[in-house]
Amino acid sequence: METYDSLLAAITPTAGPTRDVHDPATGELVGTVPVQTADDVDRAVTAAEAAQPAWAALGHGERSAIMLRAADAIDRSTEALAELLSREQGKPLNGPNARFEVGASSAWLRAAATTELEAEVIVDDGQSRAELHYRPIGVVAAIGPWNWPMMISIWQIAPALRMGNTVVVKPSEYTPLSVLALVAVLNEVLPEGVVTAVAGDRDTGARLSSHPAVGKVMFTGSTATGKAIIRSSADTVKRLTLELGGNDAGIVLPDADPEAIAEGLFWGAFINTGQTCAALKRLYVHDDIYDAVCDSLAGFAASMPMGIGLDEQNVLGPLQNKAQFDIVSRLVESAKAAGARVILGGDPAHDQPGYFYPTTLVADIHDDSPLVTEEQFGPALPIIRYHDVEDAVAKANALDVGLGASVWSADPDRAREVATRLEAGTVWINSHGGLNPMVPFGGAKQSGYGLEFGVEGLKALGVPQVISG
Ligand code: NAD
Repeated sequence: METYDSLLAAITPTAGPTRDVHDPATGELVGTVPVQTADDVDRAVTAAEAAQPAWAALGHGERSAIMLRAADAIDRSTEALAELLSREQGKPLNGPNARFEVGASSAWLRAAATTELEAEVIVDDGQSRAELHYRPIGVVAAIGPWNWPMMISIWQIAPALRMGNTVVVKPSEYTPLSVLALVAVLNEVLPEGVVTAVAGDRDTGARLSSHPAVGKVMFTGSTATGKAIIRSSADTVKRLTLELGGNDAGIVLPDADPEAIAEGLFWGAFINTGQTCAALKRLYVHDDIYDAVCDSLAGFAASMPMGIGLDEQNVLGPLQNKAQFDIVSRLVESAKAAGARVILGGDPAHDQPGYFYPTTLVADIHDDSPLVTEEQFGPALPIIRYHDVEDAVAKANALDVGLGASVWSADPDRAREVATRLEAGTVWINSHGGLNPMVPFGGAKQSGYGLEFGVEGLKALGVPQVISG
């Protein structure tokens, strides 16, 4: 399945009701997906249950080898997967976008395949011995969002497989084709029933996250849906990893060099056209360098082309869907109405197809503006002036979410000291949002709980078992 046409043909339903999926840049039809029901969820979970004992019995070595072959299959289909992702999600092929996402998917799969989780000897004093092992959970549900659909699905699937679980994947209703295609490529290699995708909406997700035979839900999406999953999983006491919404603050200290940090600030905020959970969503800049940071960031941002994803020159794309376009528009309009100063963008063209919202920077904005307090999840960054770093830290910590944060300074020790006071799962110094498959990632406060990636990520996909005697 190395060509776009063969990939699309492999996932196009041949019978039953279907739903059309459109390109958010052009409105063109990209493909169709099956409309799957609660019965399909039940069948997929039953198949996953049936496949799990044999998958677990293969042992770590054999599972690892199969997963590495699956990563090779992704690599062989990179261009086809990237084109489908670009058409469906809207993100450009080029830049840190569609090809990058497919590459990250195979990289994360390889990392999970090759990471070792040894049994820990907790006590061994000659009298007694206690070891901590991790057993497979069973069937894992993987429920994902529409912003990085392939990569986030792999973040959920890969550690689950490595630990001997089987997986039922429920992609976002906005980006099902990308995930169905990814699963089809994985299934060129994986035994039957080990990974099954069910395309459906939030009801399908609710059915899956309350299914009695599902032992764990890996969920990435909004905080509101995360809370619904906590409730729906309670009756069967499922294990949960919840990677939820964020509203990441960045604090620029007065000693930072505005020119030197402009590119990092830009990509921290605007990667994937701002549709990234751990993107920079509120920028606090010291009064001494406020104007210089605004100028250098606006200069860099204005040079970054936005447009149709298949055009290789573009590095920014449309919002993925109209609902998100409307959220970004509303938040920017409310800031304008309250007297904030738009220094770039802020005025989408209404005479072209596609959910394009221009790269937007909003200066001289109050902390209580909805553009600051709500997650915009799009290309509109509020830049807030501060005078006292203590005040900036307090404001950064004032919200009930805490996924990521960043501190920007010429003095790394000073930046680290400020970082320790920020309430976030990750604090980056002089960058924002970079991830590594071996470095744990997770949220604080209502950004969720549980860690993904590396050894901690594998532990989250196992049931701890102490063997003592
Ligand atoms: P969403 O919560 O609307 O949907 C996510 C998934 O949940 C979809 O597949 C949806 O069908 C499903 N779903 C909806 N209701 C459900 C229910 N009651 N039970 C089970 N499943 C249900 O999120 P979204 O709009 O697709 O994604 C954007 C949000 O995701 C943003 O808030 C963003 O910050 C967050 N996000 C977080 C991370 C992270 O790692 N923390 C990564 C990406 C996105």
